[in-house]
Amino acid sequence: MMDDLRDLYQEVILDHGKNPRNFRHPDDCNRQAEGDNPLCGDQLIVYLKLDADGTVADVAFEGRGCAISMASASMMTEMVQGHSEADARSLFDKFHKLVTGHEDDIDGDVDDLDKLIALSGVREFPMRVKCATLAWHTMTAAMDGEQSVTTE
Ligand code: ZN
Repeated sequence: MMDDLRDLYQEVILDHGKNPRNFRHPDDCNRQAEGDNPLCGDQLIVYLKLDADGTVADVAFEGRGCAISMASASMMTEMVQGHSEADARSLFDKFHKLVTGHEDDIDGDVDDLDKLIALSGVREFPMRVKCATLAWHTMTAAMDGEQSVTTE
């Protein structure tokens, strides 16, 4: 990877890690789940407001953890807001393939991943993959009506 591109990615991660978007507890959420990544110490709660038609009307999170886990959660909330539950799950599928080095298996448009590409570097660090995917596992757990999820 070119150095300036790597720097840009680093900037995106630091920005979202330091100033996470949608870091709040919405009053009107109707789903929530806790995510725990004990290997790193990342802990977060994802809040969802799902409309009757399956639209993610609101998504937010609270918690603490490393920059990767916070940045990924922050970007996730920005990207799935206003989209359907199905689209959100499909985005996670693509993102999971990206960070586990299976981007060749991604169906459809890789460009959908947008700024999530900044997290692609974690594929070289299996421990970090858990940090990067924690919020996503937690969001899908909330959609499935589960209370909690752990990476172990
Ligand atoms: Zn972490």
